[in-house]
Amino acid sequence: MVRAEQVWKWFGSADVLRGVDLTVHPRQTLVLLGPSGSGKSTLLRCVNALERVDSGLLEVEGRRVGLREAGGRLHEMTEKELCGQRARIGMVFQRFNLFPHMTALENVALGPRRVLGLSRGQAEAEAERLLTRVGLRDKLDAYPAQLSGGQQQRVAIARALAMRPHVMLFDEPTSALDPELVGEVLDVMKDLAGQGMTMIVATHEIGFAKEVADTVAMLDGGVIIESGPPGECLVAPKEERTKAFLSKVL
Ligand code: ATP
Ligand code: MG
Repeated sequence: MVRAEQVWKWFGSADVLRGVDLTVHPRQTLVLLGPSGSGKSTLLRCVNALERVDSGLLEVEGRRVGLREAGGRLHEMTEKELCGQRARIGMVFQRFNLFPHMTALENVALGPRRVLGLSRGQAEAEAERLLTRVGLRDKLDAYPAQLSGGQQQRVAIARALAMRPHVMLFDEPTSALDPELVGEVLDVMKDLAGQGMTMIVATHEIGFAKEVADTVAMLDGGVIIESGPPGECLVAPKEERTKAFLSKVL
């Protein structure tokens, strides 16, 4: 479960998140919509402790992100503690950021070997299982340059899953892809949601949101202006800004 209560984030004098409240229950998918600059990436980066929240409460699985309680006070996590927390939160970015000199199998097996301490054999067996799950059984030994954008993004998803995350964050995972490759990546994400992963997905893919989201949240100017089931938020939005946004992306 992910819970945000009055989360604020600022960069200098710019308030980027201005009191965000949201809850993502276990096994549910939240789709985050919003115009460019509304704070979607910043919010996801806060959940993953890549950015530090300036004010408010942010919890993943009941634990404060980036902070630990000791002696009745909150302390910043050490780098090691942060790594432990991040390892439970998978993140997939717009750009796939695979290691170019490693095969698909090696890209996926690296984290489990380094961070989870799996043996090479165990990590590669797990990587093969995950690459099969994302439909890349025949690409284990391919290098990123030999893969299409959609295939690379599916390797990136397998790589995130290899860390056995409890929550998956997706930041516009299909927006750098050629249109004909978008579907194969969305299908993998749909399967993942169907199998009970807890997910937050920033995307402009309204069809995906309608089909997969349990909740849709519309972020604008660092505030969630409207949220609810897709059947309400996307079909009969209450806010003018949501209507205007949807008319642009649909
Ligand atoms: P997009 O749809 O274009 O990806 P977004 O909703 O993900 O947009 P963010 O990337 O979260 O938006 O950015 C929100 C605002 O925060 C923008 O005005 C951006 O310029 C600002 N911002 C983000 N990161 C930083 C930073 N490190 N330093 C200063 N300003 C930042
Ligand atoms: Mg963004």
